[in-house]
Amino acid sequence: MPPHSSNKDGFANTKGFPCGKRIEGQYKNFFKKSKNSKKYEEQKELTPLHRVRSLKDVPLEFVGTEKLLNRLIQILNNVTEFAVDLEYSPYNVWLIQISTRTVDYIIDPIPLRSQIRTLNEPFENPNIVKVFHGGDNDIKWLSQAFEIRVSNMFDTWKASEILKLQKHSYIGIVEKFCDVVLSKSCQRSDWKRRPLSSQQIMYARCDTHFLLQCYDELLKRVQEEGKIQDMQEFSVKICGRY
Ligand SMILES: [Zn+2]
Repeated sequence: MPPHSSNKDGFANTKGFPCGKRIEGQYKNFFKKSKNSKKYEEQKELTPLHRVRSLKDVPLEFVGTEKLLNRLIQILNNVTEFAVDLEYSPYNVWLIQISTRTVDYIIDPIPLRSQIRTLNEPFENPNIVKVFHGGDNDIKWLSQAFEIRVSNMFDTWKASEILKLQKHSYIGIVEKFCDVVLSKSCQRSDWKRRPLSSQQIMYARCDTHFLLQCYDELLKRVQEEGKIQDMQEFSVKICGRY
């Protein structure tokens, strides 16, 4: 599709970004099941409500216009938690990924530089939990690049540290709690390129897609060990820094 044409939903298509496009369950081969993978029915620790939401069951939406951004903000204002990740270089933020319980979103901040700040409303709302993994730099960038302040952050990296899990990396906790082995292929990717490759889209999406699942499991364990206050103190410390 040529730049700035309209897609069938009537949303303007920004340069090389599949704006407004909804992708349903693709890229089957991107990750593989863990070697010691159990069937979902055998995952005794997981309650039926908390079974892994496969990529097939969750649509992916691209947000690259003000109209779509405003719609997303309305959605985020009405959830109790959402997962966040950013892709950035030392000088700029190139992607913002957000997952709710039902949809994965990839936001293109490039055409939305002056509007991204409106995301501040759900980010600053203390009644909505923002789930990050090692969110220190992400929170710094949200503040420095867009003047977005975060409150009520749950950091899955910090939780894995408090719980003394064997692996603290995102890949490590996703394998443990979602039974999925993620690819490291795009860790050093050129995130400012447009169009993004399907590999990049998949990688970016997976950075938040599994995060709420990990949050559910980590929160349960943190509560069981009576460490919830440690998590809250960490949130106040990191969020208060920027
Ligand atoms: Zn990422």
